[in-house]
Amino acid sequence: MTDNNNSSAKKAFLFGSPVSHSISPAMHNLSFKILGINANYSAIDIDLDNIDSVTKYIRNDDFMGANVTMPLKNDIGKYIDRYDTSSRLSYCLNTIVPENGELAGYTTDGAGFVDSLYNNDIDVKNRSILILGIGGAARSIIVKCAFEGAKSITIAVRNVNKLRVPSEFSTNIESETSCPIKIIQLDSDIMNAAIDESDIIINATPVGMTDNNCLIDKKYLKPSHIVCDLIYKPSMTKLLLNAKACGCKYMNGKDMLLYQGARSFKLWTGKDMPIDEVKKMYFTD
Ligand code: NAP
Repeated sequence: MTDNNNSSAKKAFLFGSPVSHSISPAMHNLSFKILGINANYSAIDIDLDNIDSVTKYIRNDDFMGANVTMPLKNDIGKYIDRYDTSSRLSYCLNTIVPENGELAGYTTDGAGFVDSLYNNDIDVKNRSILILGIGGAARSIIVKCAFEGAKSITIAVRNVNKLRVPSEFSTNIESETSCPIKIIQLDSDIMNAAIDESDIIINATPVGMTDNNCLIDKKYLKPSHIVCDLIYKPSMTKLLLNAKACGCKYMNGKDMLLYQGARSFKLWTGKDMPIDEVKKMYFTD
């Protein structure tokens, strides 16, 4: 059995605040134990006021890697030496990997989301995608879906004139993939037409997490739609309840949580997370 607390153990972390509720330490530590990897993953509460304290952890020889969550996701970049393609194009990172003496930034949300679709027998290739929101998770998903051969991606935002991403966000992705990207206003006639033309609809906003709201009017949903919500608590948001009532295939964000973690694990260890065991232990309702 592996002693995950010994002094020669490699160290992995989750940085952010609050982090005490996170399932990440449990899933990674179980995976280390099952695979006999001498490492330990812990959650470190760090907010923007003491963000410099991450250097205590990430520059050590025993640093295996880290996940980064809110509120550090946008500011952690100053400690990173280089970015992988998806992180560079999506302007976000959630995973730090030490590589050849440098720190590399990756985003695994998009790949984790697409893995969760595949796991539910859903392919993004040649599909028209409508995504609500353009935050970090949405951008990571947009980039991954574009590289996976999505037919088109439409992004609906609450204010098209006030985007928190550089204006070249869409054109950079379009020039590196053949996927057309369009940004439209939520709650508009254009959006209603976009719903009709979409195969996969993804809520990448927090709407529905602590309220009983939904950004898509039920009357526009049809059984051919695949409806995804990145929210996993509650497991059924109003959007997903509506999708179920309309006969759509639907999926919450629980599998994405698992698979984005598995993607980070692979980057740090080179090994596949023992998904079945982790799922059985922490992801069954
Ligand atoms: P984020 O960076 O803060 O982005 C949130 C996005 O939602 C922004 O585009 C924001 O628009 C938009 N938004 C917020 N409130 C809205 C409202 N009332 N109406 C319309 N749009 C609204 O957050 P994130 O990290 O991308 O996370 C987004 C969601 O995904 C959260 O619910 C999060 O819990 C979930 N998530 C799940 C996983 C998973 O593994 N399942 C992983 C990551 C995230 P503005 O720019 O106008 O503010």
